[in-house]
Amino acid sequence: MTAPDSAPSAQSRLTLDPADWNAFRELAHRMVDDSLEHLRTLGDRAPWTPLPAATRASLANEPLPRAAQGADAAYAQFAEEVLPYTNGNRHPRFWGWIQGNGTPLGMMADMLAAGMNAHLAGLDQSPKLVELKVIEWLAELMGFPKNSSGVLMSGGTMANLVGLAVARHARCGFDLRKEGLAGGPRLAVYASTEVHSWAQKCVELFGMGSSSLRKVPAGADMRMNVTALKRMIADDRAAGLRPICVIGTAGTVNSGAIDDLNGVADVCAAENLWFHVDGAFGALAAFSPSLKPLVAGMDRADSLAFDLHKWGYLPYEIACVLVKDRATHEGTFSVTPSYLTDEGRGVIAGGLPFADRGIELTRNFKALKVWLSFKAHGVDAIAHVIEQNVAQAQAFGVAVATLPDAVVAAPVSLNIVCFRFAPTAMSAEQQDAYTKEILLRVQESGLAIVSGSKIDGRYVIRVACSNHRTTWDDFEALLAGLARIRSSIA
Ligand SMILES: *Cc1c(COP(=O)(O)O)cnc(C)c1O
Repeated sequence: MTAPDSAPSAQSRLTLDPADWNAFRELAHRMVDDSLEHLRTLGDRAPWTPLPAATRASLANEPLPRAAQGADAAYAQFAEEVLPYTNGNRHPRFWGWIQGNGTPLGMMADMLAAGMNAHLAGLDQSPKLVELKVIEWLAELMGFPKNSSGVLMSGGTMANLVGLAVARHARCGFDLRKEGLAGGPRLAVYASTEVHSWAQKCVELFGMGSSSLRKVPAGADMRMNVTALKRMIADDRAAGLRPICVIGTAGTVNSGAIDDLNGVADVCAAENLWFHVDGAFGALAAFSPSLKPLVAGMDRADSLAFDLHKWGYLPYEIACVLVKDRATHEGTFSVTPSYLTDEGRGVIAGGLPFADRGIELTRNFKALKVWLSFKAHGVDAIAHVIEQNVAQAQAFGVAVATLPDAVVAAPVSLNIVCFRFAPTAMSAEQQDAYTKEILLRVQESGLAIVSGSKIDGRYVIRVACSNHRTTWDDFEALLAGLARIRSSIA
């Protein structure tokens, strides 16, 4: 497209579609080929390469492009300056934090979805039925009733936020939507000290204040102490607070611990509290019949949030929140202005169910990548890769413990191994600094990406295995690399 010499008129024929569809088709095919080739050869490169100074400067200093540069030139710059410099999360030796890898099919699904550009507030169209079907499949996998309500979200933070909003609406005991927090007593939400940081962000955002998030101590097994939970609820009630919800975690971000979900469900039933489960990655254990017992009690939750872009291996962004009671879910959010009224016929027939289940109105067609992947791979194949990750983490936990001075710092409950190096000649601070130095050299040497954290106040290397590209050879390379790096420091 070229800019007109004079201001456009109503008769101008400007559009952003390609002027030459054949030339664009060629470029588009090249983009697909390049992307697939890049994915095929990921393992030949280091997981992470620091940005060269010239690339950093080029990207940082690019002025606003008022004039056309052309798709070929823009794509060439992307291929040179953007594509090679990611944080490495697709790589077979990436075990940092809990990130996902994406899949080639997922990439294509996102492209198809963007091509359709379907508007997923609802409306009478096939994409809506695909999302409803995906939610039903996910409910079935998680042990929720088939007719559960749900909505796909951008990530675990957002899915948990929706779950907690529904919990508050359901259990606050006053008309929160109308009166706001001024309409009732101070509310309290419970989660273990190991809860992910979304919970604090969320209660702050909700105007409840971070002190309304009551952190229940975790035991040596990193799981919520349910006896302490009961005591804290009783104490808070006595002090005039209104407990509304307990958040159980299925797979804590630090160590992968799974709370005693049946124990928490019993407390919620006895105390008439909402039971929300954050299963960001751990809930995906339920995909596997053999791992499902690890998350026993999760199916008793009133709401459950989980990601598919972590342990479901799909490209960002995709997560889901399930809520058993649809009326309560939609009652938390539904607002229908006149221009969005369901007329019972025409394209708006059936209304905008997804707009009523969260805070977004315009939403993309995230469901397509789940639908295509489940059908193409089969859920059993995805479950087997999840099982493989658990087996890898268990085996790595055993192997790393045999390295000199290595201490495994938390039970390997699921797919995360936390360990540190503790040479006896060093003080605790020296050990922490030493462990951190080894971690950074693992990253900077291009060997692998692992991340750091703290367990019981001590610095640990955290190896989180939610990677469908990892083989045991990759872990052997890490073990050998750790030994090599240690001898280079000593
Ligand atoms: C990653 C994670 C979250 C947040 O999910 P995002 O998709 O990153 O927003 C919440 N809880 C747990 C336990 C997590 O691991």
